[in-house]
Amino acid sequence: MTEEKVVVVGAGVMGHGIAQVAAVAGYRTTLVDVDQAALDRGELAIRASMAKGVERQKLSAEQAEAALDRLSTARDLAAVAQDADFVIEAVPEDMALKRRIFAVLDDAAPAGAVLGTNTSSLSITEMAAATSRPGQVIGMHFFNPPPIVTLLEIVRAVRTSDETLARTRAMAERMGREVIVVGDSPGFATSRLGLCLGLEAIRMLEQGVGSAEDIDRAMELGYRHPMGPLRLTDLVGLDTRLKIAEHLHRELGEQFRPPVLLRQMVRAGHLGKKSGRGFYEW
Ligand code: NAD
Repeated sequence: MTEEKVVVVGAGVMGHGIAQVAAVAGYRTTLVDVDQAALDRGELAIRASMAKGVERQKLSAEQAEAALDRLSTARDLAAVAQDADFVIEAVPEDMALKRRIFAVLDDAAPAGAVLGTNTSSLSITEMAAATSRPGQVIGMHFFNPPPIVTLLEIVRAVRTSDETLARTRAMAERMGREVIVVGDSPGFATSRLGLCLGLEAIRMLEQGVGSAEDIDRAMELGYRHPMGPLRLTDLVGLDTRLKIAEHLHRELGEQFRPPVLLRQMVRAGHLGKKSGRGFYEW
């Protein structure tokens, strides 16, 4: 197996899981974050998740050890991007920040690198325009947690080349992903549908239609969703969902207006699982 190198930017809820999947798939993988504490937390979470994988016989102890050997962490993106074959950006859902990351990558990454973004909703075409190589920019939307949820929503931006799409598909296959390919429109297929349900569930809670548990059980038992929309919002992070809702509200209209309760919870620091409290206690 060739030792291609993957750089994952952002070690938060998604970035560390994406790095784990890349390392297990045999890529030399570097996880980058500006925050050392996030890198430390990410590394611990990867070790814990791999240990669980070994316990459940999803991978052998040798495979886990080899994957950990292929994984490193860093703070300096420009330095580690120098020899990257693939970069997957997973910093917060903020266009200005993402464009800055893409500008750094444009300066630092080798001419042939594929530049991917894990954005949930923002325009990939707009990020690509921050580079001099928009043909190599593509959406790689992973799901939470990446080691377990195998969907990869590949988003083809206006100028994404056929070659970039083909290389991304090959990478997805090596990472054991099941792929859908969609065009670059706000929220793509997944977040657009997922947010409809998630925001309506919050409005129902606000209006006293039922408890969080009962609203979630409605979807889990009645519609066979593996997890109800409020628990899922806790896993995603209420701050992240709010940013996505604000963007979709601007782009697609009233049905995505963020509920007041969501704003209040984010202001109170109740961000879901990552802060210990959201619609549930964690
Ligand atoms: P998060 O807030 O948990 O993590 C983001 C990380 O990026 C933080 O550790 C932060 O320190 C780091 N960061 C900030 N600025 C940086 C910079 N300049 N350079 C390097 N690192 C930087 O966010 P998340 O939930 O992992 O979301 C990341 C992206 O993935 C967003 O675009 C989000 O929409 C998308 N996404 C999230 C989920 C989810 O379930 N949370 C699912 C799919 C996609």
